[in-house]
Amino acid sequence: MTEVIQAYRFALDPDSQQEDQLRSHCGAQRFAYNWGLARVKAVMDQRRAEASYDLPAEELTPSLSWSAYSLRKDWNQAKDDVAPWWSENSKEAYASGLANLATALKNWNHSKNGKRKGPKVEFPRFKGKRHTWSCRFTTGSFGLADSDRSHVKLPRIGTVRTHESTRKLARHVERGSATIRSATVSFRGGRWFVSFSVKIDRNDPAPADPDRVVGVDLGINSLAVLSTGEVVPNPRHLEAAQKELRRLQRQASRRTGPNRRTRQKPSNRWRKTQVCINRLHAFIANARRDGLHKLSSRLVREYGAIVLEDLNFKGMMSNRRLARHVAGVGMGQFRRQIEYKAAWSGVHTYVASRWYPSSKTCNGCGAVKAKLRLSERTYTCDHCGYRADRDLNAARNLAGLASSPSCGATENEPAGNPRKTTPGGGGYCHRKTPTEAGVNAAPRGDSSGTFLHVS
Ligand SMILES: [Zn+2]
Repeated sequence: MTEVIQAYRFALDPDSQQEDQLRSHCGAQRFAYNWGLARVKAVMDQRRAEASYDLPAEELTPSLSWSAYSLRKDWNQAKDDVAPWWSENSKEAYASGLANLATALKNWNHSKNGKRKGPKVEFPRFKGKRHTWSCRFTTGSFGLADSDRSHVKLPRIGTVRTHESTRKLARHVERGSATIRSATVSFRGGRWFVSFSVKIDRNDPAPADPDRVVGVDLGINSLAVLSTGEVVPNPRHLEAAQKELRRLQRQASRRTGPNRRTRQKPSNRWRKTQVCINRLHAFIANARRDGLHKLSSRLVREYGAIVLEDLNFKGMMSNRRLARHVAGVGMGQFRRQIEYKAAWSGVHTYVASRWYPSSKTCNGCGAVKAKLRLSERTYTCDHCGYRADRDLNAARNLAGLASSPSCGATENEPAGNPRKTTPGGGGYCHRKTPTEAGVNAAPRGDSSGTFLHVS
């Protein structure tokens, strides 16, 4: 039994009145965020100006506390004056805006003082009308509707119909193995969503064959080649939609877009095209994620150990010709899925070092080629005459690493809750020396540890 924090996201079908209310709550969240930011900024500017006149520190305007608690206290004192309409929305909307602001300020401050690793965090900016609409509820009555599996409850807004069945979460709630901690509504790609953050006791079945090892070579021509010889085809959703995307992008280029230099505002016709483009991007992303989830779930169900490559995703993304394909098959996403699903069902995962020559090594005799062109699709060994498909040879080499992890693979902790690992380490622990581990550290975009499960 592993306890994890998981997100369950459902598309909503609100009626027009509920849609107004959702929009109003997201607007209220933004209003509170901007109100708090303006106050913090004004005090900071004031103190900076006073300091430039050499005022002693004790005579400066007292600084404001940034904690979510004191921001909320100040808001409650000021709300009758600055927002006399505040009672139209749940108080949670304002609290969620202020909590976001407190986090943004804390991140900026820690980044400035060197307490936070990673890229530099800028000072928070005001949110415009077109910023992503979202609003989080942490108290009040929210969750799944009791009556059926096609509605959710939200504070103030009431019972909203979902576009899809809430069955997967409902089963856990009925069994008592899930606690819903918060609900976030957002508007993305032309549709409203609710995402529940759920504390869940997972009891995943062990893999069907715990002794079987599979090596996975992520490719460009196919989604993956397994060491068993199976070729998993690319969904190519991106390519299918690419033609339509190019048409829309041509259309957008004929219309007046924004220009920062001339301060040209985009036309309404340009915005309309952008809405279509965003919707198409969302379609592609959803279809792609679905395909990846199906493959990763299947691998974790069937095999006891999975060996993956540590590809340099960031480096590949900066190569313009490879980038579209790498992004197209969503390799980073796939590895993240494998890692957390494997941890749930006790499957071992190994990540080969980025420098392990999986493609250049002969699976027959172990000889390593000095050079192998990307265009050579069949591997032929000069020493023993072994011949195999290039990707299959690589996948077999990867599978071989599981039995001898000393030659460049790092093992994942299967029983562990991936949330409890060190933030820098991602999902697996390095058995290597610190310098090597630094080279090996995977570029991971999100270390938030929240698992998105689209059901
Ligand atoms: Zn050979």
